[in-house]
Amino acid sequence: DQTPVVEKAASPVTLPDAQTVTSVRHFTDRLFAFRVTRPRSLRFRSGEFVMIGLLGENGKPLLRAYSIASPAWDEELEFYSIKVPNGPLTSRLQHIQPGDEIILRPKPVGTLVHDALLPGKRLWMFATGTGFAPFASLLREPETWEKYDEVIVTHTCREVAELTYGREIVESLKDDELIGEMVGDKLKYYPTTTREESPKMGRITTLIESGEAFRDLGIPPLDPAVDRAMVCGSLAFNLDIKALLEKAGLREGANSDPAEFVVEKAFVGDGV
Ligand code: FAD
Repeated sequence: DQTPVVEKAASPVTLPDAQTVTSVRHFTDRLFAFRVTRPRSLRFRSGEFVMIGLLGENGKPLLRAYSIASPAWDEELEFYSIKVPNGPLTSRLQHIQPGDEIILRPKPVGTLVHDALLPGKRLWMFATGTGFAPFASLLREPETWEKYDEVIVTHTCREVAELTYGREIVESLKDDELIGEMVGDKLKYYPTTTREESPKMGRITTLIESGEAFRDLGIPPLDPAVDRAMVCGSLAFNLDIKALLEKAGLREGANSDPAEFVVEKAFVGDGV
């Protein structure tokens, strides 16, 4: 029998729930953002997070929680990431290039969503570090601008360069085809740094407590009748802001029980 033995060609390894990286941008040696293809079936609410990752050395998916930084209407998905030295995922994820594949579990969840807040007039977004990511989504979401008369974005980082990703998104809103007109003069941006010299220095918690933030922004102190807040930072930061909001009479809400503010951890641990 002359029939040649046809060896089954090794099929290229396709990751479970694979998505393809379309662009990568590095901001500092600790921060980068990237975009990936979006699974057709994925529906999410702006502000939610998903599990993403890479195949681990043991052949099993190595997954971590990541806020989707792009709005719900975007054709692609965007993420904003830390680079943790020796971090199991990010020590490798930071090297991805366009064309590479990542794993994305299409099960979005989270509390930083409009549904978890009662109607209000002013929406505060309090972010530190990569905690800006869910707000990068919500700021580009038309619902944010339909629902509120004013949106105040605070972002606190150690160094000025760490504000770049957020600043560029904030600055792009006015020229955005979809929401530019809706944004109008509703947006107030309040970036602060804690280490490197910048026009506004200090922790936002201190600036709120002293009243300096309200004087700078030209708005009255927090009022549960009009103010709503979304908080995303380290555990310590979240607890501090939560205490300030509760002191002002705002209550924490959830998807099942909307109220005046919502909180989500930007990461687990003390931070890098
Ligand atoms: P890990 O072993 O996961 O972390 C090691 C240590 O690094 C942590 O103990 C902590 O001290 C520090 N660390 C981890 N993440 C951060 C961070 N983002 N900022 C500062 N210090 C950190 N990370 C993002 O970069 N972008 C996101 O949008 C994002 N969204 C998240 C949403 C939720 C709900 C949660 C719980 C976490 C989120 N994280 C996000 C953190 C993320 O899940 C991983 O921890 C991070 O990618 C590092 O993974 P790693 O395996 O390299 O290190």
